[in-house]
Amino acid sequence: LQIKISGEPVHIEILVPQGPARLRELLPVLEGLTDTVVELATRQVEREGKSITCKKGCGACCRQLVPISAAEAHNLAELVGAMPQRRQAEVRHRFAEARERLEAAGLLGQLQNPDRSSGRELRPLGLSYFGLGIACPFLEEESCSIHRERPLACREYLVTSPAENCARPTAESVHCVPMPAKVSSVAQKLEKPRPGYAAGWLPLILALDWANTHAEPPPNRSGPILIKELFSHLAKESQTDNRVDN
Ligand code: SF4
Repeated sequence: LQIKISGEPVHIEILVPQGPARLRELLPVLEGLTDTVVELATRQVEREGKSITCKKGCGACCRQLVPISAAEAHNLAELVGAMPQRRQAEVRHRFAEARERLEAAGLLGQLQNPDRSSGRELRPLGLSYFGLGIACPFLEEESCSIHRERPLACREYLVTSPAENCARPTAESVHCVPMPAKVSSVAQKLEKPRPGYAAGWLPLILALDWANTHAEPPPNRSGPILIKELFSHLAKESQTDNRVDN
C-alpha cells in the first residue's frame, strides 16, 4: 500500500486473506499500521524539540480505562487461554479480582453497557475508573507482560510530559502525543452490530468476560473489503482532524 499520513508518503506491505475474514485475522495488519502511525507521530514531536517520556517500569497509564474492540477481546481471551496453567490462573484471578472491585464500586453495570455509539460517556467513566487504581491484569512489575500483543489503544498512548505526572493525570499536566490517525477507534467501528454482538468499544478489563459470553460472529466480509473499509474510515476521519489519504 502506498498511503500518506500527515502528508508523509508511507509504503506498507500487508498480507490480507482473499476470502471471508474476521477483523481478528486482520489484527496484525492493524497493529503494524498503528506502529507506523505512532512512529510518525513520535518523529513529529521530536521535530518540535520534545521527547517521549514513557519508559519501561512506568505503568501508571495501565490503570486507565482501555477501550478495545470485540476482535481484540477475543484475541486476548485466546492469548490467556494459551498461557501455561499457572500463569493463566494468575491472570484470570487478576481479572476476577478487578471485576469484584468494579462491582463493589458500582461501576460494573456502566462498563458492561457503555454508550457505544459515542465516546461521550468515556471521560467521566474513565476518571471514576482511574480513581480505583485497578492495574491491568497484564501489568507485571509495572511493565506490560504482553507487550508484543498489547491492544491498539495501548500502542497509541505516549506522553511527552514528566512520567510522574501520569500518576495524577489532568488535561494540563499530561501531554499525550497527538496521533495523526487513531487506528484503534477505526477498528471499533469496523465491527458491524448484530444481535448479541454490539459494535463499538468495550473495556479491556472485561475482555475475558465479554469473549466468554459473546460468541465470535462468522466472517461476513472478505479481507480486501475490510481493508478498504478501514482506509475509508481513516480517510474520513482525516477530513476532520487527521491526515490519512489513500
Ligand atoms: S495491555 Fe499492557 S500496555 Fe495495555 S494496559 Fe495492559 S499492561 Fe498496560
